[in-house]
Amino acid sequence: MSGDKMDNKLNNKLINLTEELVRFRSDKGNPDEIDKTLSFIRKYILDDSGSDSIEFKEFIDNDVKTLYVFNNEAVGPEILLCGHIDVISADVKDFKPRHDDKYIYGRGSGDMKSGVAAIIELFLKYCQTKNVRLLISTDEEIGGFNGVGYVYDKINPSLVLVTEPTSNNIRIKEKGGLWIDINVTGPGGHASKPWVANNCIDILIGILSELRIEYTNPKSDEWKTTMNIGAINGGKLEYSKGKIISGPANSIADNASVRLDFRLVETTSHDDIISDVNNIISKKMQSLNSDFKIDTVIIEKVVHLNTDENNPYVKKLVKLQKELFNEIKISPGHAASDGRFFSSKGIPVILYGPESLGHHSNNERVELISVINTYNLLDKFMEDI
Ligand SMILES: [Zn+2]
Repeated sequence: MSGDKMDNKLNNKLINLTEELVRFRSDKGNPDEIDKTLSFIRKYILDDSGSDSIEFKEFIDNDVKTLYVFNNEAVGPEILLCGHIDVISADVKDFKPRHDDKYIYGRGSGDMKSGVAAIIELFLKYCQTKNVRLLISTDEEIGGFNGVGYVYDKINPSLVLVTEPTSNNIRIKEKGGLWIDINVTGPGGHASKPWVANNCIDILIGILSELRIEYTNPKSDEWKTTMNIGAINGGKLEYSKGKIISGPANSIADNASVRLDFRLVETTSHDDIISDVNNIISKKMQSLNSDFKIDTVIIEKVVHLNTDENNPYVKKLVKLQKELFNEIKISPGHAASDGRFFSSKGIPVILYGPESLGHHSNNERVELISVINTYNLLDKFMEDI
């Protein structure tokens, strides 16, 4: 068989499998469809692997299922191929995939059912000769806490490869995240006598201004810790659709709250931010009497993904990328993925996947050549593990 014909066969397999996966409406409101997707994957692997030493294990936490597939006779370094089959909700028509010469279209085509198709085919190719394993999660889009967040301390891979869409960039760093609330309460009073009490909104604005000096946001795509003011509330107003419906202007506000979203580069820890916030608040408290309270609540903490660039697996993948495509593309990620859980245990994690366009929108599509590149680079990588 000529190389071209072999490639065509592989391309068709990747397209068909991606489209089969896109047909399942596996968004968070559809646990039945998620079950069906996992059953489909099981059957696809069983039918194709021709082995009776393949084991399927299903982890369940809080009704969230994660599928773990491995050859129980395999030896050698454990390479875990990791992907998620859950998607963001979309219209029914977005679950009817199609493709042309350039793209595969449909919800999840890029994020990340084509990546899942690639790792299923890689697993099938290597499950008899290497200790390659597959982990398919179903709650990545809602945080991953019951999926990989539950499984990661029960298995111990030597390396985790995640085929999230990275535009064929090798990704070894992702920002951490921190959601934190600040709540200010005080006695309030009448607006005609502002000297009787500090206004809680003024106090909160003061705190936010000081934080903003510490955390200025970049004007362009820069690898920097950022702070977003996600929501703010204070006084006694009623809002609807971005407009004030009712509420007094003549009150000294007796409350003000804010919800902040920090995204942290690897040199900023969660504790760095928490202590900055606390320092600013305690300084502010010194100027207030005991009628005032300022408290903070940590709403969510997302760990960083941080793999050493000198890790031998990273170096090997970079070298192969240069050999195969005559370029080195490495870029960090601003958002978090399931890979972060393994990274928090010190396990090397590498993300490498296709070019997804319009993901999370109603015109999601994945560039076909980038899916094939994903498979080819990881194939070369697996060859001499
Ligand atoms: Zn994803």
